[in-house]
Amino acid sequence: MNLHEYQARALLKAAGIPVPDGEVATTPDEAEAVAARLGSAVVVKAQVHAGGRGKAGGVKLAANATEARGHAQQILGMRIKGLVVERVLVVPAAKIASESYLGVIVDRASQRPVIMVSPAGGVDIEEVAAKTPEKLFRVAIDPRFGLLPHQAMALAFELYDDLGQVRQAATIMQQLYRVFLDAGGSLAEINPLITTPEGEVLALDAKIVVDDNELARRSSIAALRDVTAEDSSEVEARNAGLSYVNLDGNVGCCVNGAGLAMATMDLVKYYGGEPANFLDIGGSSSPEKVVAALRIITRDRNVKSILFNIFGGITRCDDVANGIVQATGQMKLDRPIVIRLTGTNEDLAIEILRKAGFEALTDMDEAVQQAVKLAQEAA
Ligand code: GDP
Ligand code: MN
Repeated sequence: MNLHEYQARALLKAAGIPVPDGEVATTPDEAEAVAARLGSAVVVKAQVHAGGRGKAGGVKLAANATEARGHAQQILGMRIKGLVVERVLVVPAAKIASESYLGVIVDRASQRPVIMVSPAGGVDIEEVAAKTPEKLFRVAIDPRFGLLPHQAMALAFELYDDLGQVRQAATIMQQLYRVFLDAGGSLAEINPLITTPEGEVLALDAKIVVDDNELARRSSIAALRDVTAEDSSEVEARNAGLSYVNLDGNVGCCVNGAGLAMATMDLVKYYGGEPANFLDIGGSSSPEKVVAALRIITRDRNVKSILFNIFGGITRCDDVANGIVQATGQMKLDRPIVIRLTGTNEDLAIEILRKAGFEALTDMDEAVQQAVKLAQEAA
């Protein structure tokens, strides 16, 4: 789950990290009022779950309240990476002497949280990692001890020469690690971490991604979810108990079990296709889940063919077959569908499907090849 910048900032602030004041506005009037209250030059910032807002025109400097109003008018309602801006954050403009990057992520390679810093902050950190990896410094954190003071100091010396700034940054790193842990984060990032001409170190941007599996025991974090800012198909899938991730390809996949779903996507790629999504209808399915799955898959207009790949264990193939028949009775299916099912109640399922005019395969390779071919023909 992604947090908005204004939500992430509040968590940083509560942990003691210096963050400029600021307020959220949903209309140009409100933005103007906030700017007037702040009584200084301000920055108007789009609040959407996307990075690179600056480059997309979603972060704008305003000299006064009237200008802030104009910027808010432009930014509210604009689309950044497909997401509509519903809110802006209005903050006093900071004077920037230097911009650094500071982030904590869960690192699969070391199986630990890793803290990363770079003196080349502000821009895309992915670009720094790719082009100038020598400017990125990392330390894997032993979760038994947390980020130790000397580790934080060593990293801070990679950013600053001034001892006062080094100390401020080291403290911020330890505070950020606490925020990351307490929020159940998979990522907590400050980019840019700035120094002001007066020598102060401040967090000017904040990004936190929370691991969904951590939400059940963190009700205050879970309450920060903003479904209006999320992909509507992913929201619907979550409500229906499906794991769904939208991807860029054109073969819509409906599979039971995460492992088989991954294997199916691999096989789609192997046969020259591109999966349009990851979708796991779960171990025990019901016709209702299949109906929801088909609705979600077909809503994606990039989908040119639909592939069902079901291995019946606890999942009964006849449940899935009934779901397909039910769903296609409710909506007109305007794209070809390839169904492969094998395992529990396979014979029953094939009979149900045949009666409704569907063909069913039992071989996975054959089914994937067909689905890829149909998608390519339609594209
Ligand atoms: P992002 O592009 O989505 O990461 O949004 P940021 O909040 O990081 O803003 C992008 C860039 O805008 C920063 O790297 C800064 O260079 C600039 N910026 C943001 N806030 C301020 C500010 O208060 N003063 C100044 N001068 N520049 C700012
Ligand atoms: Mn940023």
